[in-house]
Amino acid sequence: ILTAEHIRKSFGNHTVLKDINLNVEKGDVVSILGPSGTGKTTFLRCLNYLEQPDSGKLTIDDVSVDFSKISKDEVKRLRRKSTMVFQQFNLFRNKNVLENITEGLIYGYGKSASEAKDIAMEELKRVHMEDYAKMYPSELSGGMQQRVGIARALAPRPDVILFDEPTSALDPELVGEVLDTIAEVATLGITMIIVTHEMHFAREVSSKVVFMSDGLVVEEGTPEDLFTHPKEEKTQQFLQRML
Ligand code: ATP
Repeated sequence: ILTAEHIRKSFGNHTVLKDINLNVEKGDVVSILGPSGTGKTTFLRCLNYLEQPDSGKLTIDDVSVDFSKISKDEVKRLRRKSTMVFQQFNLFRNKNVLENITEGLIYGYGKSASEAKDIAMEELKRVHMEDYAKMYPSELSGGMQQRVGIARALAPRPDVILFDEPTSALDPELVGEVLDTIAEVATLGITMIIVTHEMHFAREVSSKVVFMSDGLVVEEGTPEDLFTHPKEEKTQQFLQRML
């Protein structure tokens, strides 16, 4: 459902993504692991065009783009193929929980107000937040805010949901509830790509694990392959430090 080919991205003269290739099948849950600063977040943001890659090709479902000559119309079509769950939640502070979800459905996806509300309530139920629909982000814990972020990402039923280190801004005692929510979403058959430092979670939930280092994919495979029989020395060293 997603194919990224030869994705490159530099910030000034610092090349962050050297040549990233990734193939994701429909229903895959892909975890991207790797040391800090190796470009995991940047790569994820490129998939949604929140960062502009310098070159490379990306196909998601029926949309194919070449980043070296992408048009405004293609950007729009590509963006509708995926949604993002952000490290810092990125909820609108001045809107309540329900509005945080309906807003995008109405203005981004052309849903009517009542349709948007029905969808939003259904997704809030899924993340066990339906009782908080009228509350504002500042009244909620970080874990609850992130569950709203997940409901918001689910609501338009994108082809792919991108999770950018979804638990790294949370107090340790709140990490579990968000990982549990993501694990529940993973059982729905929705394609997900997750940048994470949570090794046990990656091992349990993923169908595929990708290890990135220095702007390249070093190794990829099933959780069993990567965690039990890593082939590359860089992967072995990383796992030794993390586990
Ligand atoms: P972490 O696990 O720490 O989040 P990461 O693998 O996700 O790391 P990125 O956040 O993608 O890494 O960052 C890769 C490199 O790109 C870092 O050196 C970072 O400083 C740099 N970088 C990221 N965004 C920008 C930007 N907007 N401008 C300049 N440099 C940036």
